[in-house]
Amino acid sequence: MITAGHRLQLNELPFGPPPSVREALSRALASANRYPEFLPARLSRLIAERLGCEPDRIVVGAGATGVIMHIVQEFGSGAAEVVMATPTFDGFPILTGMAGGRPVTVSLTGDGRQDLAAMAAAVTERTRLVVVCSPHNPTGTLVPPADFEDFLRAIPASITVVLDEAYVDFVAEAERVDVFALLDRHPNLLVLRTFSKGYGLAALRVGYAVGDPELIERIARWQLPFGMTALAEVAVRACYEAEAEIEARIAVLGEHRDRLTTGLRELGLCVPDSYANFSYLTLPGPDAERVATALAGADIHVKTYPTGIRITVGDRAATDAVLATVRSTV
Ligand code: PMP
Repeated sequence: MITAGHRLQLNELPFGPPPSVREALSRALASANRYPEFLPARLSRLIAERLGCEPDRIVVGAGATGVIMHIVQEFGSGAAEVVMATPTFDGFPILTGMAGGRPVTVSLTGDGRQDLAAMAAAVTERTRLVVVCSPHNPTGTLVPPADFEDFLRAIPASITVVLDEAYVDFVAEAERVDVFALLDRHPNLLVLRTFSKGYGLAALRVGYAVGDPELIERIARWQLPFGMTALAEVAVRACYEAEAEIEARIAVLGEHRDRLTTGLRELGLCVPDSYANFSYLTLPGPDAERVATALAGADIHVKTYPTGIRITVGDRAATDAVLATVRSTV
């Protein structure tokens, strides 16, 4: 049987860019012979204007992955310890290792949350960086803002704390941390964001960190000359101008996520509340493998972990296909 296939393993948005963004990108292709800016000052300014801060509080990179690389180059090299949850976004342990640092991993709690107390306790005199994700990848759980500030108070101010908010665009404003208020009190904090998820620009590789100007300057020193594409700036500008449309799509995706989560729970499965664009099916390893194999047999591609399966929220047809296959497997 030939099927379209459902690509649900990378937490991509199932929608291509809105028409106005596509048009802006097509127009920009006519200047593909020209280099972008030497360092992406215009793009930093654009993001800073949108956030209402000075541009010296922003550093952009080739996706959040690019920014993470620069952060670990600055803070995670020379055998420094980097404390993080496990599982977490694969980029953290991989890039830490590439930079010569040592990932110190702390297991999630049984309900899929990062164990902040255990992470604070894992800090030693060799720790230079601590990473928290909210929403967390792969479980979708949110760190309540008050818990995160308690955590910041428990970490020595000499250690940099990264709050990875790659999925923040899927979180209601009222449930997000107040980034600038936190930065005023904790200048050792760096907040990481990306245009790959809510904005659906994964192919164009745009991410950024917000932080104290001194910290930002240290990370920006690692930026590659001409390292961002000119299309990245064009797409971000056009997305900001199409904000209402972007938000409407995120709302639709939230409905699909809730339908997927509810459908999986109705099958008797354990699924933490997700604040991101994926749902996590908590299953013991062998069951996770079995369900993932059945899904792959139906041309549905997901990511498997030792304690479960992460399923990206796709369109309605993808949710129908996932639910039908899981129903026939569990
Ligand atoms: N952080 C988290 C938590 C992620 O899940 C991802 C991508 N899956 C990234 C960062 C990196 O995203 P990108 O490089 O596409 O911006």
